[in-house]
Amino acid sequence: MVVGHAHRHYGEDMLSVEEATERILAAFSSLEPEETPLLEALGQVLSQDVVADLDIPPLPNSAMDGYAVLHQDIVGATTTHPVILKIVGHVAAGEVPKMVIGPGTAIRIMTGAPIPDGADTIVPFEDTDEIERKAKGSPLEEVAIRLDVGLGSSIRSAGEDVTRGQKVLSKGHTLRPSELGVLASLGYVRVRVFRRPLVAILATGDELTEPGQLLGLGKIYNSNSFSVAAAVLRYGGVPKILGIARDNLDEIREKIQLGLDADLLITSAGVSKGDYDMVKDVLSEQGQISFWSVRMRPAKPLAFGRLIGSNGRQVPHLGLPGNPVSAMVAFESFARPAILKMLGKTRLEKPSIEAILEDTIHNPDGRRVYARVVVEKRDGVYYARPTGGQGSNLLTSLANADGLAICPEELTQLGRGEKAKVQMLDWSEDVDL
Ligand code: AMP
Ligand code: MG
Repeated sequence: MVVGHAHRHYGEDMLSVEEATERILAAFSSLEPEETPLLEALGQVLSQDVVADLDIPPLPNSAMDGYAVLHQDIVGATTTHPVILKIVGHVAAGEVPKMVIGPGTAIRIMTGAPIPDGADTIVPFEDTDEIERKAKGSPLEEVAIRLDVGLGSSIRSAGEDVTRGQKVLSKGHTLRPSELGVLASLGYVRVRVFRRPLVAILATGDELTEPGQLLGLGKIYNSNSFSVAAAVLRYGGVPKILGIARDNLDEIREKIQLGLDADLLITSAGVSKGDYDMVKDVLSEQGQISFWSVRMRPAKPLAFGRLIGSNGRQVPHLGLPGNPVSAMVAFESFARPAILKMLGKTRLEKPSIEAILEDTIHNPDGRRVYARVVVEKRDGVYYARPTGGQGSNLLTSLANADGLAICPEELTQLGRGEKAKVQMLDWSEDVDL
């Protein structure tokens, strides 16, 4: 059964997930660059190329603990015919060698120490008799070289990793721990990246109580503010929790004001068709807002538009549905890519895999179904098992899931044993890329 879901509500459009995404993303672009301490920039995107102004390593240095020698002295050395060299000095990492290698001499050298002038080869300790000499307690005045390691062996040349003037990282690159290490190796303490978006989060509803407070009869705890704020953090934004607005116009107006300094205001609930869904009214009076039905399950009702502050500043607003799973799925689908785009990222799609379904996903009314599943890899094949009840209020079944298996809108079901695309929320031990 293919359903062309025809019923419409006043002021609403029925949109595909792609149409909704496109309209939302059109309202965002990367935020302005800022300079950030290195560690705080983890996960942020470079707003300019990084060009090295030094060589790494700065000087030729030893790759091994051993002896710096002249290769011509050790040509043909073997265990049975070792070459004896006179030890004329020591050099540790961080020191500058004070002596020069001449014929018949060696300098004891540690990994990372600069190569003494005259030396052209490093012989590691293992290829000398140093250990036996030490064991015997003989003074280290000379050393037997037992292997011709080859000219230039174990010498790292200056600029081997990075040369001065080289473009090391490009604008648009995401900073992971290794990139932060590269920047530190170039001497950076701060780096220019696209600013993190400030995301204001407002929960709405008379039934909501903050965790930590006494729960009155008929009330529930506010979970959306926490799941949404955590998701904002996870994807690189800065959450600003505005608390709860009761279902009355003044309170919603007042709380929304507090979010007008943000780069995105996210509200939850109050955008469907209930009697007390007043977020709609306030939004309509304070900006331009559209109320959409998106052809997806969960998370059909969605609001998107812009609020205009008293100073004329415009703030994009995303109104998530109230049901906790709907709020999260809508966040993943629409808020996540918006946050990533503001951060300067270009790969906005969630990572996905193909998995074999271990249970049927039903699609009664022609929407795109996002079913909560646990993904497991067995013998190199991914399997996806729905986590039980798929009601949009059942948050624990999302907590138990690591992916969302998709049943396309044009299918009435995707059966057990069939392949499904699974958007990964997480990578568990059993799943890898
Ligand atoms: P509404 O969109 O106001 O009709 O809310 C839909 C459902 O989501 C209702 O069952 C609400 O109680 C629930 N809900 C709304 N906001 C939250 C919240 N912040 N935390 C947990 N549940 C919520
Ligand atoms: Mg409500």
